[in-house]
Parts: sequence; C-alpha cells; structure tokens
Amino acid sequence: MSKLRAIIDHRCPRCRKGKLYTHSMFHWKYDQMNKKFACCNLNYEIEPGFFIGAMYVSYVFIVAELVNAGILAFMIFGEEEQWAIIATTISPVILLFTFNYRYARTLLLHILSPIKYDESAGRNC
Ligand SMILES: [Zn+2]
Repeated sequence: MSKLRAIIDHRCPRCRKGKLYTHSMFHWKYDQMNKKFACCNLNYEIEPGFFIGAMYVSYVFIVAELVNAGILAFMIFGEEEQWAIIATTISPVILLFTFNYRYARTLLLHILSPIKYDESAGRNC
C-alpha cells in the first residue's frame, strides 16, 4: 500500500494495514482512535499531547476552505448579499469538521511524526 493510499484510508503509518480509527467518518464516534494496533504494536500517541499538533494542520484545512468558499460565495452573490456570503463561507467548515479532524491527525502521523514505514511490521495482519 502506498503512503498516499494509507493516508486516504487512515491506516497505520508503520505497517499501513491497521486502521487508525475505530469507526467511520460518518459515525457519531468519528473521533475515536485505536490506542495501539495489535499487528505492529505501535502506540499512535507518541507522547502526551502529540495530537495537539493536529490543530495546526486542521487550521490549514479550515483557512483553505474559508478562502475558497468565500471567493466562490462572493462571485455568486456579489457584495449585496452579505448574509448569504457569510453562510456560504462558513458552511463547508461546519460540514467538513469530521474530515478536517481525522485527516489532520492522519497527516500529522504520516508526515510530521518520526514513525517510519516498516514493511515487516504488519506481516501478521
Ligand atoms: Zn501498524
């Protein structure tokens, strides 16, 4: 499994087989992660507060969504419909909050953490 595919599927950064989250993105327990994956015995939370860094990744997502939605809303509604522009600009951030939350953590683990891919780690999966 490629690194890109592992990120898209929310897979373990070490073995790329184990799932990071216990439930679907659309489940009300969307935020629950596996504490440790049985196959490669990797503890995802490298140190206490590690996932606070995901807040900065999520911030990048939100700014990109706000800017793109704002430009699109401004092009559609013009300067007169201010409430329509505000609602259109904010709605993607609200609708995509599970996406932002999960992909921020997944990207943090795959790109910014010291965990390296080990093909032999997930051999027993
Ligand atoms: Zn793993």
